[in-house]
Amino acid sequence: MQYRRLGSTDLYVSVLGFGASPLGDVFGTTDQDEGARAVQLAIDEGINFFDVSPYYGLTLAEERLGKALEGRREQVILATKCGRYGIDRFDFSAARVRQSVEESLRRLRTDHVDLLQAHDVEFGDAEQVIHETIPAMRRLQEEGKTRFVGITGYPLKVLMRIASAIPVDSILSYCRYDLLIEDLDSVLMPFAERHGIGVFNASPLHMGVLTERGAPDWHPAPPTIHEAARKAVSFCREHGSDLSELALRFCLEYPRVASTLVGMSKTSHVRRNLRNLGETDRELLREVKAILEPVSNLVWPSGRPENQDEATAQGA
Ligand code: NAD
Repeated sequence: MQYRRLGSTDLYVSVLGFGASPLGDVFGTTDQDEGARAVQLAIDEGINFFDVSPYYGLTLAEERLGKALEGRREQVILATKCGRYGIDRFDFSAARVRQSVEESLRRLRTDHVDLLQAHDVEFGDAEQVIHETIPAMRRLQEEGKTRFVGITGYPLKVLMRIASAIPVDSILSYCRYDLLIEDLDSVLMPFAERHGIGVFNASPLHMGVLTERGAPDWHPAPPTIHEAARKAVSFCREHGSDLSELALRFCLEYPRVASTLVGMSKTSHVRRNLRNLGETDRELLREVKAILEPVSNLVWPSGRPENQDEATAQGA
């Protein structure tokens, strides 16, 4: 396993990170014991970064991850979030941030997290996030409840607006660098590198789109993306390969981000994803990219109208 420094922090995170949202059953029902075994195996194999949120499974993922990490907390870099509590339940107030962290620490069975992130900031008022939420998170940092502070979200513009106005240690971006889209590389990375901010690339499978099973019903991508992905799945199968493996390899060999976060809840996924820390088949990549080309760089609306990226209209 390789480790990379997270921006200007002293955290060195594994290039493959464990996304714990599937432990909250957000991609379908999962087995709690198998999820715990997946966590144990990931740690045994050198995965040291775990990302969760009170939102995932409405606290279920935090509960399960906390239980699975018992006795091994010191071996991992643990990140959770605050501000999002349901599909349309957001509260970025200072009081809720404080209460939220206390609740997360109880569920995670620890006295501190390593990274606390404001979750999906595009759904909040950016001014509130800048002047109230992040300062409240910094106070919790001073009190030792978190070692670092970050933000997460989908539109890139608002992430950069907030991080320009107030320092953050990390940005978690999702579905912006994978086989379907690469604007994290051209838009967010130059900004983050200039400011010494560590970046996580989450959802390398485009939240399930680039898998045999396909995306869950709640997925926000337009239907054309799902159709193109199904073609790519068939193409890979016909060539004795697997689209998810190609998609992961493509992301895992991208050197500019600190870690690529993959959602996992089964030991088989952990094993497969560890196997993908290798070279990409260039010819297969070229052909699959050609299949996905007509729907590449499409984005969907997320959050408040004023926080959307300009290009959103194309994909909506
Ligand atoms: P993902 O693209 O990683 O896809 C996860 C899905 O792929 C799950 O159904 C999982 O079971 C399946 N999967 C995993 N490995 C597989 C394999 N080898 N073959 C086939 N299927 C496989 O999407 P994700 O889980 O949404 O993203 C990863 C993590 O990033 C999340 O768990 C979360 O921690 C983080 N994230 C954060 C935000 C945010 O903060 N706003 C948004 C998205 C993701």
